[in-house]
Amino acid sequence: MFKKILIANRGDVALRVLRACKEMGIPTVVVHSTADAESMPVRLADESVCIGPPAATNSYLNIPNLISAAAVTGCDAVHPGVGFLAENADFAKIVKAHGLTFIGPEPEHIQQMGDKVQAKITAAVAGLPLVPGSPGAVATLDEAAKLAKDIGFPLLVKAASGGGGRGMKVAASADDLAEAFSSARSEAKAAFGDDTVYLERYLDNPRHIEVQVIADKYGNAVHLGERECSVQRRHQKLFEEAPSPALSEEERSNIGDIAAKATKQMGYLGVGTMEFLYQDGAFFFIEMNTRLQVEHPITEAITGVDLVREQIRIASGKKLSFTQKDIKFNGHAIECRINAEHPETFVPTPGTVEFYHAAGGSGVRVDTILYSGYKIPPYYDSLIAKLIVHGRDRDHALARLRLALDEFVVEPIPTTLELHKRLLDAPAIQTGDYSIKWLEQSFFDTDK
Ligand code: ADP
Repeated sequence: MFKKILIANRGDVALRVLRACKEMGIPTVVVHSTADAESMPVRLADESVCIGPPAATNSYLNIPNLISAAAVTGCDAVHPGVGFLAENADFAKIVKAHGLTFIGPEPEHIQQMGDKVQAKITAAVAGLPLVPGSPGAVATLDEAAKLAKDIGFPLLVKAASGGGGRGMKVAASADDLAEAFSSARSEAKAAFGDDTVYLERYLDNPRHIEVQVIADKYGNAVHLGERECSVQRRHQKLFEEAPSPALSEEERSNIGDIAAKATKQMGYLGVGTMEFLYQDGAFFFIEMNTRLQVEHPITEAITGVDLVREQIRIASGKKLSFTQKDIKFNGHAIECRINAEHPETFVPTPGTVEFYHAAGGSGVRVDTILYSGYKIPPYYDSLIAKLIVHGRDRDHALARLRLALDEFVVEPIPTTLELHKRLLDAPAIQTGDYSIKWLEQSFFDTDK
């Protein structure tokens, strides 16, 4: 096992990794920017190292400083957390080149899946069902127009390096193709420095369902069921549940088996998530995230598996501690992302939390770095807490969520807690009958 782990991240995910390390008896070093010097993970870590000023480019994304921090503190492994450098193949390579273990997949897999054109090719070879589209990158508008005849409209022009929903444009008909093609390319160039695009059929009312997979160095690959993440605003997830209310037992086990088989065939290592769109009973692979997901706790709740512990064990060369047969799904779990954002305008609301009170009780988990007096810095993502509830079935989980949301207090900062309370009253949430269009097209429009 590792002697000491450097946690190259901040916020609730740094704390999540720290807790797993402490439970396993592994000493930790938490890095931080000057803005996070007082943060909970820094206070709880065995050691901490300041790696730069507030701007993430100079601190959490500063590879030389991170490597130096690991070297001076005698770490032998680096956990990248979620976001920042977690899906940066160069970082993984540099970590390895310095004789440290990167707690994550091999750099080749990060690279392969980071390029969406390459990811689709890999996925097709591994037997995953794809959204019909161009066979690879599309270089010219002429080529796009020819391919579009087969794909059909509406279609999406998507950036190969895309992320966070950027570099993605819908062409409703042939007349819109030129505009969508050029604006997707220029947006991709500006955001990712790469204007490579490809085409995909636009599904008009899908659900976003993703499968958690995990694999060790010995060719064992297991799926841990799916998560339903269709409640999205601007392609950002707000509310996730496991299992998906849309799937039958048979569909669940089929897509899980397909994902686990593909994971094994790729020779993948560690935890990963295969994201699918699901419409009219069919699954379409869209991408694979080669890291832990923000919403991993709902999978932990229904499977009893500690994903971060497994990640660390696998990276240290140990075998998976379970097989597919050992995985049993128990009850229903829901996660609400609580952001320091105005619940109606979504404008970030950094500032001092004067009073904080967490929800509690049976089946309630809160992953957060909040405490009374904490100053939410303006420099980073606005996620300040994850509220996870677990119940014996979906109705029980929803009832516990209502209690937990009512107990949760973050004063005087406006947060998305209020939005989640309103969401819970929506018939579509109560029945589980929603798609990725629902929040923006039905809920926000009718709710005001
Ligand atoms: P990103 O990496 O930018 O998040 P994804 O490919 O994961 O991009 O897609 C993000 C979201 O965009 C999906 O969750 C879904 O809401 C929507 N989307 C992506 N591809 C399609 C498609 N072919 N048809 C309809 N919606 C899509």
